[in-house]
Amino acid sequence: MPLLPRRFERLKAVLDRRMADLTVLLEHVDKPHNLSAILRSCDAVGVLEAHVVSLKGRQRTFNNTAKGSEKWVPLHAHASSAEAISQLKAQGFRLYGTHLSATAVDYRSCDFTGPTAFVLGAEKWGLSQEATALVDQAIVIPMQGMVQSLNVSVASATLLFEALRQRQAAGLLPSCGEGVPSERYSRLLFAWAYPEVARWCDQQGRPYPGLDAHGAISEKIPRTLRLRC
Ligand code: SAM
Repeated sequence: MPLLPRRFERLKAVLDRRMADLTVLLEHVDKPHNLSAILRSCDAVGVLEAHVVSLKGRQRTFNNTAKGSEKWVPLHAHASSAEAISQLKAQGFRLYGTHLSATAVDYRSCDFTGPTAFVLGAEKWGLSQEATALVDQAIVIPMQGMVQSLNVSVASATLLFEALRQRQAAGLLPSCGEGVPSERYSRLLFAWAYPEVARWCDQQGRPYPGLDAHGAISEKIPRTLRLRC
């Protein structure tokens, strides 16, 4: 079945608004419903990819809360918080650690228009001391009630939507793909449109075929593969 033009336009419209310079790093957030809800918020805001450091031996799983967003927001696994943080810093991100301490600043006083990574901690014990020491700025969402903290997925949605709001107000939201490096954009568009062909190309170590303006594959691919498109 060829890709419907409407579907191709929708994929492009979503990718056009993705932002490579906004992300989350999840430290030991392991509950499937939380991971799922966070990825769903990332997708809603336009985050290109997210990062995770898992507890050793724990397999990451998602549930229906994700509504399939794990397909659209890749989650990169890192071996440790130190490695993840130094990689993100090397890419130019400013890291905001969510830390419920007296020294953390109100998130609304921060500028999230530049490359921003929110670092969120485990459901039970919060951000590790190691991550807290390595981030650039500790931030907090002020709480007014009896309960000390928010659910981690609610905290990440609050922060991500504040970043979106600030970028929108500053006229910095991408609208035609400028938020994603162009080679990455083309590869992602292909993989979103033709996941099976992309998998096959990856296995074969081949470059992805080109697409025409309507989203049809413009090069020859094996017939068996074409039938699965
Ligand atoms: N007892 C833990 C603590 O002291 O950090 C609570 C962890 S909280 C349930 C899980 C994660 O949600 C936190 O590590 C943080 O990333 C985020 N979070 C929850 N409430 C927050 C708030 N008010 N401000 C910023 N982040 C918050």
